[in-house]
Amino acid sequence: MQTITLNNGLKMPILGYGVFLVEPKECQRCVEDALEVGYTMIDTAQAYFNEEGVGAAIKASGLKREKLFLVSKVWISNAGYERAKKSIDESLAKLQIDYLDLMLIHQPFNDYYGTYKALQEAYKEGKLKAIGLSNFFADRYVDLCNFVEIKPAINQMETHIFCQQNALKPYLAKYNDTKLMSWSPMARGEQNFFNDERIAKIGEKYNKSNAQVALRFLVQEGIIVIPKTVKKERMKENFEIFDFELDSNDMQILKGLDTGKSVFVNHYDPEFVEMIINYGK
Ligand code: NDP
Repeated sequence: MQTITLNNGLKMPILGYGVFLVEPKECQRCVEDALEVGYTMIDTAQAYFNEEGVGAAIKASGLKREKLFLVSKVWISNAGYERAKKSIDESLAKLQIDYLDLMLIHQPFNDYYGTYKALQEAYKEGKLKAIGLSNFFADRYVDLCNFVEIKPAINQMETHIFCQQNALKPYLAKYNDTKLMSWSPMARGEQNFFNDERIAKIGEKYNKSNAQVALRFLVQEGIIVIPKTVKKERMKENFEIFDFELDSNDMQILKGLDTGKSVFVNHYDPEFVEMIINYGK
């Protein structure tokens, strides 16, 4: 598996398996399937309510802990130093592990400075091997980076062919090379993604599906991807992206499909903020 080196020297697989919207009762089976296919990096979160399923699957797999790269995220309702600190231990217990490879702040709302302080402390204690952010657009990212001791290793953002995060990228490079990790690398199928003819035309050249072109495009851009599917066949399909390379002309065409906009949400819409801070309460 191709890896990417984070700003603290830790190596991380560039392709993993994400479990957002995987039902808690189905999560163990899905993660077991993903591990069988060959995924070693799993992305979960407190707010997905399926950390137990991930933990059960990794235990059942018998794989050595050091062969896995496990990612979780602190939710808004656990923000602030004390609550975040407690929630890190709760995530470790649910996952049945004694360290996480990467812990992120899920959303830039509530007391995320307090949360970051708890992450830094847990990092120094060895409970977290790397720490980072998610959904921190450039303004909040720059603010946070200017007032914390350990620069984030990762910022996990909606990133796919239609939303390439080009406004954020120079700032990630500026503050100690925070790596971009894509959520919804296939736009969750929005805007006819899996049947988009512009992507399909490129895929035909390499005998690859839209999903594979989408993931390969991001990987070639040095972006970490965590596609989600509950179907084992699709897990295999999404894994088979290291046996071809998009040429520079095709990369340019795909870069040209960026709209600079989310296909889902606007983090600067007060109604969205009200919705998300009440999620999971
Ligand atoms: P994805 O872009 O990974 O798309 C998932 C959707 O595509 C599902 O509906 C799945 O259906 C379908 N699908 C998967 N593979 C294929 C394929 N090869 N062909 C056709 N359809 C396919 O979106 P997600 O939103 O799930 O994002 C991936 C991960 O990113 C999440 O699981 C989570 O870990 C993370 N994430 C993080 C967020 C954050 O705020 N930090 C927000 C959202 C996601 P099916 O399952 O039926 O196969």
